[in-house]
Amino acid sequence: MTRRTKIVATIGPASEDESTLAHMMAAGMDVARIGLAHGTVDEAIERYRRIRKVSEQEGRPVGILVDLPGPKVRAATFGEDQVRFRSESLVELVVGNERSTSDVVEVDYEGLLDDVLVGDTLDVGDGRVVLDVVDKGGDRLKVQVVHGGLLSGCPGIHIPADRLRMATPTPADFLALDAFVELGVDMVAISFVRSAHDIRRVGTEPHPRGPMLVAKIETRAAVQNLAGIIETAGAIMVARGDLGSECSIEELPHLQKQIIQQCIAGGRPVITATQMLESMVSRPSPTRAEASDVANAVFDGSSALMLSGETAIGIDPPNVVRTMDRIAQRADEEFNYELWAERLAELRMTDDTTHDAASITDAMTMAAWRAADSLGISTILAISGTGFTVRSMARFRPQARIIGMSHNERTVQQLTMSWGTTPVLVKDRGSNDDMVRQAVEVARDRDVVRSGEIVAVLAGSDNRSRSANVLRLERVP
Ligand code: PGA
Ligand code: MN
Repeated sequence: MTRRTKIVATIGPASEDESTLAHMMAAGMDVARIGLAHGTVDEAIERYRRIRKVSEQEGRPVGILVDLPGPKVRAATFGEDQVRFRSESLVELVVGNERSTSDVVEVDYEGLLDDVLVGDTLDVGDGRVVLDVVDKGGDRLKVQVVHGGLLSGCPGIHIPADRLRMATPTPADFLALDAFVELGVDMVAISFVRSAHDIRRVGTEPHPRGPMLVAKIETRAAVQNLAGIIETAGAIMVARGDLGSECSIEELPHLQKQIIQQCIAGGRPVITATQMLESMVSRPSPTRAEASDVANAVFDGSSALMLSGETAIGIDPPNVVRTMDRIAQRADEEFNYELWAERLAELRMTDDTTHDAASITDAMTMAAWRAADSLGISTILAISGTGFTVRSMARFRPQARIIGMSHNERTVQQLTMSWGTTPVLVKDRGSNDDMVRQAVEVARDRDVVRSGEIVAVLAGSDNRSRSANVLRLERVP
């Protein structure tokens, strides 16, 4: 079995050269993520162009996800070397962006003294160091180190999101967004969203004309407003780094499961992110706990798994992708497909009396899944303009592989994120009969299916229809 769960890998200083990118693609990177939290927009554009170039050279669609950092508060740099914070020591926080030390940490947020209150707890570097605010005076906060540790670079400082007055996306996010929309970016992630309103504020054209918007769930408000966010966004990220600081850590595994379940029901791809193979930043193999985390994220129903620092600044990015590929593929083999599809069928079909595009696609994709399952069909060809039908099909986690076919290049790029889907670009040839014939031939010519076998083909009755309304079981000529 080939791997079904997708891999998103963050590109940074350790992985931005052409040869490393090519090795990461060969190792199984489906989507490249460009973070904008470090460096300039021009540097990010440079990375973007290089990823496109290498993906073309490799002849493999690789989606590009640009991640807008939002109101992420950071410390000014500690420099390359690790700086130690001792438990119980006293430290000062001031507004600034020059240099941080273990005595005075500069914070790049003007509202620091207004928004943070005595008694607040601040996580630094996804919980590497924890600070208690004990006093506020003049231009500085006095904090006590509750849990000491090592910090380097420009770690994030987690200020409770309901306290932060800065909106998301920020003005800097909008500038970067404009540049990348111009370039035709496939997907854009929005950090620290609190409600569907934050996603609507982005204001880009709906995908596939515009980028697919990925809402990062990393605030308590977002957890409360999840239904509206899922409805409005194109995909979701369980952003465990900041979410783990916003809620109590024992809630995190359960939030992960709940968020994933709701995304699948809504037909949205969902990414599980952060610290999945964290120890591989500096080691050649993962901890046992990390291997289990990756496998369990697959069992939870993640469409994709994300690598952050592991590939952005780690010692061996292609090795990390290979390791994740092996663990995810093995977990895909053990995934309980029957139980999953039955549960989803129940979830979707309960209030299904509206006969709108979504409910028709529900019924059609379920029929395709049942036909494939009962006839032992090994390939489902799903033809779709926007990718909607393909994503709806992927929800069922069919044993059969899904070939997501579209004449829209952006759709093909966006389908790199969809579970179990091989995205394929086809020529647009109008009538439904033509589309079905072409799809079957393309699949045969690419050795995806063999002459004589039966495949399921899902398509709309014409290329304008919103929903899939044709299911054919075709013998490959
Ligand atoms: P970040 O988002 O890496 O941009 O902070 C992911 C997370 O918070 O988990
Ligand atoms: Mn985050």
